[in-house]
Amino acid sequence: MSGARNGAGRRDRWGGVPTLEGVTTATDLREIAVEADARLQGAAAHDVIAWAAETFGERLVVTSSMGDGLLAHLVSQVVPGIEVLFLDTGYHFAETLGTRDAVAATSDVRVRSVLPLLTVAEQDARYGARLYDRDPDACCRMRKVEPLDAVLRGYDAWISGNRRDESAERADTPVVGFDARRGMVTIHPIATWTGRQVQAYLDAHHILVNPLQDEGYLSIGCAPCTRAVAAGEDPRAGRWAGTSKTECGIHA
Ligand code: SF4
Repeated sequence: MSGARNGAGRRDRWGGVPTLEGVTTATDLREIAVEADARLQGAAAHDVIAWAAETFGERLVVTSSMGDGLLAHLVSQVVPGIEVLFLDTGYHFAETLGTRDAVAATSDVRVRSVLPLLTVAEQDARYGARLYDRDPDACCRMRKVEPLDAVLRGYDAWISGNRRDESAERADTPVVGFDARRGMVTIHPIATWTGRQVQAYLDAHHILVNPLQDEGYLSIGCAPCTRAVAAGEDPRAGRWAGTSKTECGIHA
């Protein structure tokens, strides 16, 4: 499948996304995750992805925040044409949307932009402007968590690019975990990669990088809630800076 045919990819609101019946019980999935996490410690990222593809088939999906095209490239090498979900909150930097479109056009994946139920204007009308300042948890819940929850009901497992060295909160990221709230397997094929390994992969494969990274945005979320980080800061220190919030809630 050619990524070039995908253009900016599919876009849909989570309220209209059909869900599939589960084919594996949550108990089965938890056991699969525990066994695989023990066995795949130290495995190469490609091998972790290959295991996930063999185990979950069509019920495997990828998420990306489009900080770069690394995860899409990596996964496409093993599972060409796989679906990559992007949470299009309505608050992204133009550079992030451009990175999404470029990844869709150049990688052999199907990028799918998942929209919140409410537009930003509808949310402002109902809850007041700048909800992210007053109640970022509520804003993240409506614009990220609930839309992703709805789409993930069609899958048994999802791959994300979380890494242990991104922040203290992610230091225990498993290679294969179990998301008890959603009853799903979570797969982090680059959990153990360092920033240096990431850069080496980007350079070796000429991977697209969100241009904001050159301006110090090492972890890129919504524009109102992201700032550049200084040298020596955690990559995620610029997310919800000045508040106690460190995660949007999609990674249970
Ligand atoms: S990161 Fe900020 S703007 Fe984006 S959904 Fe969360 S609170 Fe809202």
